[in-house]
Amino acid sequence: MIQTIENYDEIKISENTFLMMDIDDTIIKFEKIYKNWWKDNEPNALEKWLKIVQKDTPILLDKIEFFKLLNNIKETNSELIFITARYNTLCELTYQQLIQCGLSIKKEQIYYSYPKGEKLLEIIKNKIKEKDIQNIIFIDDHLNNIEDAQKYLKDYSVNYYLIKHINLK
Ligand SMILES: [Mg+2]
Repeated sequence: MIQTIENYDEIKISENTFLMMDIDDTIIKFEKIYKNWWKDNEPNALEKWLKIVQKDTPILLDKIEFFKLLNNIKETNSELIFITARYNTLCELTYQQLIQCGLSIKKEQIYYSYPKGEKLLEIIKNKIKEKDIQNIIFIDDHLNNIEDAQKYLKDYSVNYYLIKHINLK
């Protein structure tokens, strides 16, 4: 089931939850990139986007709620990883940007893949071997990423959240 949410407080975490979260427009945003930016900047949107991402400082979306979520993850013995469609050539930059946003994370928590579904399956399979997982969550701001995940993760019970931040102009 896919649930559309506006903020992190709508994400239900129980003991031993494994959360997989997108990065851009799910937890961080760039001031210059607005809702219809991609449409308005075609056909060279990706090139332009890369320039902005490499130069500008990202903003953590709904900081207070996000830190509450992180706290909740800790208290429930849960785990969070990030999965982004960014190129893995941006891995150092991506890691630094999340650190700049005040997150204390490890590089190994960030996965790079597009499309995401097959990679998510691999991550889950490995995680299940490693520890007891009671609940699996995938959060992304793009429906196509969620649909791709559903295709690959059909043998697993996953809670999907489509996040549409209200303050993401
Ligand atoms: Mg995104």
